[in-house]
Amino acid sequence: MQKDHLFTRRRMLLAGAAAAGAAGTAGAILAAGGEETAGTAAPAGGPQARQALKPSAFRLQPLTGYGPPRAAPRKLKVRKEPILQISGRGRRMVLTFDDGPNPAYTPHILDTLAKYDVRAMFFVCGECVVDNRELLVRMADEGHVVGNHTWTHPLLTTMNRKEIRSEMERTSDVIEDTYGDRPQWFRAPYGAWNRAAFQLGAELGMEPMAWTVDTTDWEVPGTDTIIDRVEGGAAPGVVVLSHDAGGDRSQTVRAIREWLPYLIDSGYHLTVPSRRPT
Ligand SMILES: [Zn+2]
Repeated sequence: MQKDHLFTRRRMLLAGAAAAGAAGTAGAILAAGGEETAGTAAPAGGPQARQALKPSAFRLQPLTGYGPPRAAPRKLKVRKEPILQISGRGRRMVLTFDDGPNPAYTPHILDTLAKYDVRAMFFVCGECVVDNRELLVRMADEGHVVGNHTWTHPLLTTMNRKEIRSEMERTSDVIEDTYGDRPQWFRAPYGAWNRAAFQLGAELGMEPMAWTVDTTDWEVPGTDTIIDRVEGGAAPGVVVLSHDAGGDRSQTVRAIREWLPYLIDSGYHLTVPSRRPT
């Protein structure tokens, strides 16, 4: 099962790499605080890297002396504000769905995204993943990006650092185990960020992603209201927040069937953000 899944994932990545030139993903990211991601590039191998090795006959060469370590965690800058929108040319928007996966709603949203060949981001809770692993496998197979939304959806601002780390780390672990990759994006429940969340997110290799337009579907305001919020808020770079769990989300499911084709007809390219290459 796991092996098949990883194979599928790899196939997707290869297919994605081939298509990247044409469709591409959104480029640079705009942070609310104006800070840019600064990946620390691994030192290049080559002549300088080898200079240190003196030609003494029986010197043991360190195993790490042949280039950058393969699995070195990428150092991320600790932000002070989450990312609120994406930059880049054209009419690009990002769709995000929080709090799932949920077998009652997530499959319908995935069906609609598949119908229009659109990729989205799903910020999942670890405790929901354990009972619905097949939905994460489907997200991976269909090219969606899975982000970390903690294990139990707590208010992080009321917790100590150790508790926050546990919420985040367990979730990254179950995502990696099921989806095939560790998440590169984190979203704080309720949009309640604190310093520890930014620091731990960076430590765990995740950028903090917030949103620009809240559909307010969590208030269950009626399908038409949700549609109006998305269509009225549409603009280049906008990140849309919806929910595929955490309550009755049938309005969300119905609304996306209306607003998604509207956005596409309006010339929007629904995309997922790429991380700045190292
Ligand atoms: Zn949430």
